Amino acid sequence: MSVVVVLEQRGGKWNRMSFEALGAGQKIAQFENAPLSCAVIGADVEKLAQEAVTFGVSKIYAVEDALLGDYTPDGYTAALEQLIKSVQPQAVVFPHTYQVRDFAPKLATRFGTALVSDVVDVKAGNGSAIFVRQLFQGKLNADVHAAGNPQFVSVQAGAFRAAEPSGANGAVEKVPVKLDASQIRSKPEAPFREAQRSVDLSAADIVVSVGRGIKEKDNLPVVEALAQALGAELGASRPICDNGWLPMERQVGSSGQTVAPKVYFAVGISGAIQHLVGMKGSKTVVAINKDENAPIFETADYAVVGDLFEIVPALVEEIKKAKA
Ligand SMILES: Cc1cc2nc3c(=O)[nH]c(=O)nc-3n(C[C@H](O)[C@H](O)[C@H](O)COP(=O)(O)OP(=O)(O)OC[C@H]3O[C@@H](n4cnc5c(N)ncnc54)[C@H](O)[C@@H]3O)c2cc1C
Repeated sequence: MSVVVVLEQRGGKWNRMSFEALGAGQKIAQFENAPLSCAVIGADVEKLAQEAVTFGVSKIYAVEDALLGDYTPDGYTAALEQLIKSVQPQAVVFPHTYQVRDFAPKLATRFGTALVSDVVDVKAGNGSAIFVRQLFQGKLNADVHAAGNPQFVSVQAGAFRAAEPSGANGAVEKVPVKLDASQIRSKPEAPFREAQRSVDLSAADIVVSVGRGIKEKDNLPVVEALAQALGAELGASRPICDNGWLPMERQVGSSGQTVAPKVYFAVGISGAIQHLVGMKGSKTVVAINKDENAPIFETADYAVVGDLFEIVPALVEEIKKAKA
């Protein structure tokens, strides 16, 4: 019995949330006293699997088939079902990505169980792990005991420290799967984000988010200049996107994206719970707000009390000077 972390790749590039899932997998394996292995899926992933050998895992399953070149929920579900039936792990761990949300619940039902999704912490239970999920927009935490066999778990972006290479060498095991084109009902097209030129804020190292403190759309260049100076992605609170000042894909929060960058700037954002749940996994939070009692300051590592229209341009100047 083992814990298997399913790493996500697209076009031969890792989704960095994969290594956070591996970090969670290490904890689960420790609490369940089980060896840790991982899996990577695709048409030709052996080389990529080799990159994972140093992460302290005993085995890396390279699940390969020509029909897995493009992601499809049917293909991934069928392939992982075969892997799980042959390996018989006690827990299967995923990063909580859009792709995983798409197929993992379906996979879990193949084993008569449910996916424990968007887990933010793992605690030691009585010989097994207990999974912590947030309820009511993050107001309550629930301890979940996953009764299924195996347990299926997905972990929230930014909730776990990413696993680092440990020097230990695992072995890659190629896992051929039996797939038939007739099993795959959907025809993949170009990925949404490329087709729509949309952004994946969860992959950004620095996010500069703007809130209603910006007052009007015409003032957005003030924060855009900060994002540009820092090489950051631009995010926003919900009212900014609801007003159509920035596209919905830039919304951070419970009904937007969950981000966990190295640095998160909250500019003119009050810090409503629905916003906080989307960014509180950030490593460092810098908040700029003219109200010293704004709730965002409770989450901030650096609290700048003042008018954003004075502070942000001055900050941009200093960043430019420092970079010159
Ligand atoms: C079901 C549901 C889902 C939701 N989902 C989301 C979500 O995903 N993401 C999200 O963000 N919200 C979400 N919300 C909305 C959320 O409750 C808040 O209304 C929203 O986050 C507030 O946005 P804000 O902080 O930009 O605006 P406000 O709360 O109006 O705050 C503006 C802040 O700017 C400051 N300010 C004003 N002028 C200046 C200035 N010149 N300089 C500096 N600071 C200034 C003010 O002091 C204030 O703190 C959701 C709500 C519901 C009910």
